[in-house]
Amino acid sequence: MHGGMGRRDFIRSVGVGALGVTAGVGVPGAMSTVAANERGGYALPALPYDYDALEPFLGAQTLRLHHDKHHQGYVNGLNATLAELAAARGAGDFSAVKHLSRDLAFHGSGHVLHSLYWQSMSPEGAPLEGELARAVVRDFGSAEDFLAQFAAATRKVEGSGWGVVAYEPTGGRLLVLQAEKHQDLTVWGAVVLLVCDVWEHAYYLDYQNRRADYVSGFLARANWAFAGRRYAQAAAGGPA
Ligand code: MN
Repeated sequence: MHGGMGRRDFIRSVGVGALGVTAGVGVPGAMSTVAANERGGYALPALPYDYDALEPFLGAQTLRLHHDKHHQGYVNGLNATLAELAAARGAGDFSAVKHLSRDLAFHGSGHVLHSLYWQSMSPEGAPLEGELARAVVRDFGSAEDFLAQFAAATRKVEGSGWGVVAYEPTGGRLLVLQAEKHQDLTVWGAVVLLVCDVWEHAYYLDYQNRRADYVSGFLARANWAFAGRRYAQAAAGGPA
């Protein structure tokens, strides 16, 4: 299966075959690029309250710098990275894909997490109650224990980072997480639709160091119907 054919050709043929299966639905690469361009990229969301609304907890100057400069920087970087990725796809040149994927994760996570951060506070605060409060008791024992874990985890983030309260849909439970370097390597909040395990245990007996061949084989068997169901489910809710 991975005999005389060159690696690039093999990947290309498998890739075209895989996309051909879903051609009626649309070719993902081409369509998504158009959609992204029509959307005009990501935009900095307005702060949901005045710059001084959180004083004296956080001063107006902190929020002005944090929102107008830092968050805007992530938005600009994210859009620039998406444009570079579109150019790479157009040129068929993925030599910088590792660097660009890191930039995508860094700026994408920065934008998503800051967008959530502004909404995670309000001038008066709001109590933990209702369905979320019941889920907290179910998964952490009590609201007090949950808040204690969240506070401790957030205080102890090594270096720079984030304290995160998350819903993990595979197990259907709430988790408290730490994000140390948000660029390593996901865009937080993204819903995973399909994954390929490239830990060596997944392929080494069959492919040894030939990871590219393993990835090609994976693409030939990729279950895009599964990914499509997850996409429909995730997209039905619209942007958060
Ligand atoms: Mn920040």
